[in-house]
Amino acid sequence: MSKDTGFVVLRNVKGNAKPGIVCERCGEVITDIHLAGVVWVKEEAEVEEVKVLCKTNGCLSSEPYRHAPWHEMRHYLLWLLRNSGVKNEGQLRKEWKSAEEFASMR
Ligand SMILES: [Zn+2]
Repeated sequence: MSKDTGFVVLRNVKGNAKPGIVCERCGEVITDIHLAGVVWVKEEAEVEEVKVLCKTNGCLSSEPYRHAPWHEMRHYLLWLLRNSGVKNEGQLRKEWKSAEEFASMR
């Protein structure tokens, strides 16, 4: 089954790929981290998938997600980096620069 929402790779008209986030309820592409969040439903599970939901169209506050545990998207992404080994601002700046250099070579 193909996955075309959540954390995905988007392609522009030229076929260039870029990481993206798409609301899993309405399909809106998230372009502002302040306008989205992630929820999970099995609070006691050791590992649980998250569901990306936008605020723009009210998906984050809709049922059945309204009372689910959640994170603001901006916090989730930073914690994702932190839990993946980027522990401080210096490391984040280094990885940001590396990503920009990599993108410029393509
Ligand atoms: Zn939505």
